[in-house]
Amino acid sequence: MTDTHIETPIVAVAPGDGIGPEITDAALRVIEAAGARFETLPIKLGEELYKSGHTSGIGPDTWNDLARSHALFKGPITTPLGSGYKSLNVTLRKTLGLFANVRPCRSLHPAVATLHPELDIVIVRENEEDLYAGIEHRQTHEVFQTLKLVSRPGTERIIRYAFDYCRANGRKKLTCFTKSNIMKLTDGLMQSVFEEIGKDYPDIEQDHMIIDIASARLAARPQDFDVIVTSNLYGDIVSDIAAELTGSVGLGASANIGATLSMFEAIHGSAPDIAGQKIANPSGLILAGVMMMNHLGQGDVASKVHNAWLRTIEDGLHTGDIYKEETSKARLGTQEFADAVIERL
Ligand code: NAD
Repeated sequence: MTDTHIETPIVAVAPGDGIGPEITDAALRVIEAAGARFETLPIKLGEELYKSGHTSGIGPDTWNDLARSHALFKGPITTPLGSGYKSLNVTLRKTLGLFANVRPCRSLHPAVATLHPELDIVIVRENEEDLYAGIEHRQTHEVFQTLKLVSRPGTERIIRYAFDYCRANGRKKLTCFTKSNIMKLTDGLMQSVFEEIGKDYPDIEQDHMIIDIASARLAARPQDFDVIVTSNLYGDIVSDIAAELTGSVGLGASANIGATLSMFEAIHGSAPDIAGQKIANPSGLILAGVMMMNHLGQGDVASKVHNAWLRTIEDGLHTGDIYKEETSKARLGTQEFADAVIERL
């Protein structure tokens, strides 16, 4: 990861939409109670901006705020339906050069029941290229085309990042998922770059698999995997499967790594069906906060929050999405759950 050891970094905080403000408040309370050292810079992103005519969900002044921040801590955003709007997430990734999306997925069995107690993987997804380049055409009235754009520099960067991630985090094996048997130029490039760069990392076990059989194996035997590197669209799909295998998407966090600023968020959306009910699970955003504190060089704070959060889950104190009669002791609301984590710091 980029080394961002700054004494008092600036963290831009965007609470987002739906359950966003509730879980952002809860997660920030936990991180701050653990002694996090940063200055917060509140910013607005999402629905309010879309409604006031900003088609990407971000106002022009906010780019200046982001330019002087070291991290962005972001709640989920409701994507408006209909044409004419651009995805804020894709805009942020491209404009800020957030080239790597890192998603750890780890089983908490038996506290959170899953079929895969041994699951402990990290997905490293290329975040700027591939079918997400957003280049689409209408060829005729009945034929449409999307371009899959893949560059050698972009591919080298993500593959090297994934190998470095393995080394920095004591991970032993990296598996690359592609469909190089069919897309020989684009996916073939990722496979050959993986094999070339892999020679610089003899200490890391390496494997390349075709995405379809790899996904089937992942669903059946996730314990066979350690770190996975793949392209943008495959990574999007595979990481949701992996998060679900841990028990709930409400537990997943992700880091979007850039050369200067990096963005940290939960993997789930704004959950409009439960917004305002004070029952949302803030775990995804709390764990995103753990990744952010590690990234900002405050590993002491990160470990403190992670351990307290684990103890809370292991003590059976659960929000409704993971509550089960057999394994849970109490069903807590969003802020009560945050209080329980703070008590265990
Ligand atoms: P969602 O993730 O918001 O919700 C799916 C289901 O999971 C819902 O039943 C919801 O109640 C539940 N859920 C999600 N997070 C939860 C939590 N923390 N605690 C408890 N339950 C939780 O997905 P969706 O409904 O498809 O999307 C809603 C909106 O979010 C859409 O506008 C979508 O575009 C947007 N979205 C944003 C992001 C982001 O900003 N990173 C990511 C995904 C979706």
